[in-house]
Amino acid sequence: MRRLLFLCICLSMAVAQNAADKVTVIKAGNLLDVKSGEIRHNQVIVVRGSKIESISDGSAKRMPAGATVIDIPRGTVLPGLIDSHTHIFLQGEDPAQGGYDANILQQGIALRAARATVSVRRALEQGFTSLRDLETEGAGYGDVEIKQAIDAGYIPGPRLFVATRAISTTGGYNLEGYAPELNMPKGAQIVDGPVEARKAAREQLEHGADWIKVYMTHRSWLGKNGELVSQPTLTVEELKAVVDEAHGWQRKVACHAYSGIGLRRALDGGCDSIEHGLDLDDAAVAQMLKQGTWYCPTLAAYYMDWAPETTAAGQRDRKRASVHGPSFQRAMKAGVKIVFGTDIGGIPWSEPMAQEFPRMTELGMSPIEAIRSATVRPAEMLDRQGELGVIAPGALADLIAVDGDPRADIHALANVQFVMKDGSVFKNEIRSAK
Ligand SMILES: [Zn+2]
Repeated sequence: MRRLLFLCICLSMAVAQNAADKVTVIKAGNLLDVKSGEIRHNQVIVVRGSKIESISDGSAKRMPAGATVIDIPRGTVLPGLIDSHTHIFLQGEDPAQGGYDANILQQGIALRAARATVSVRRALEQGFTSLRDLETEGAGYGDVEIKQAIDAGYIPGPRLFVATRAISTTGGYNLEGYAPELNMPKGAQIVDGPVEARKAAREQLEHGADWIKVYMTHRSWLGKNGELVSQPTLTVEELKAVVDEAHGWQRKVACHAYSGIGLRRALDGGCDSIEHGLDLDDAAVAQMLKQGTWYCPTLAAYYMDWAPETTAAGQRDRKRASVHGPSFQRAMKAGVKIVFGTDIGGIPWSEPMAQEFPRMTELGMSPIEAIRSATVRPAEMLDRQGELGVIAPGALADLIAVDGDPRADIHALANVQFVMKDGSVFKNEIRSAK
């Protein structure tokens, strides 16, 4: 038995050594430098193991001996994309399918995990080589384990930055609307008071959270003057306990916040990223600039699953979408740091993730800025500058190819034909490929 174990270890070391030595050369007809926004023609990218070793002008470069050569003469090669707001354990909230609650009440943990493996695969197929997954919605620490399964090579998927259970307060999260004597499960960890808040953060960090997710607003409705009103959840003191704990672990805190008191508390409490930010006023934008807060707007999700127009919920849904665009534009014009996020999972995984890009450009963001919001910007937010979101020597070899030039037509990002993650080719539908 011991000898067998020794043999297995030797074999796996040999496989790892092989992977580390593997050399792939990508000949890119058009390589997008996302930082400068320029296309460089006829570039040779040498990938050794999981990293990019060098990039050089094709006419000057000799191919390394024994390298696998991948020719991508047409289209555009660019860094693997990063979605900064996903839910791999959620499968849509369509009321006709039972809404949010059906995810928790009708699907056991093994089924949810099985479906999460499909979610991560779908993300990778669409060119998303990293995800910041912002909570499992009642599936506990399942995201940590899906991440382990990907990292160990059991299943294909993007690099995951996970938030585990998320935190909200009593009255601050689903499931709700059931008889009060029923003790319903909640999609987030419920805390009341700074002591419980800090304890929840400690538990989540102990069990593998890379980020802490906090719901700083919950319900929303139309106020007396037709304005969007959001119910605040945690107090500033409660949030500060979470932020203090997370920052001590050198981790960050993402706050779901729509508008009003809860949004203000999120900023006063020192959160690192505002999620959704449906109605950022001038004061919120100024505070975000001052504090260096990131903004992940998740626009497209708010144009879906509207309740009927004649209902209060339907009017609220329309109001959310109508204030969201101007809020995004206010933040963008002021120079707030914006990252791309789809909130996919909240919408079905059958939706194309790239649909968020034209939502951003239709509101005035340039295509190259939209591309940066899904590459270099989140790399900085995730403290992985130089490693993720760029094609440069020393960076991880996460790169994709799309048909056409996404600077001229942002919709090109919906047509990903080649995906490499960590130096391994996951998808290659380049027509000239042998
Ligand atoms: Zn979300």
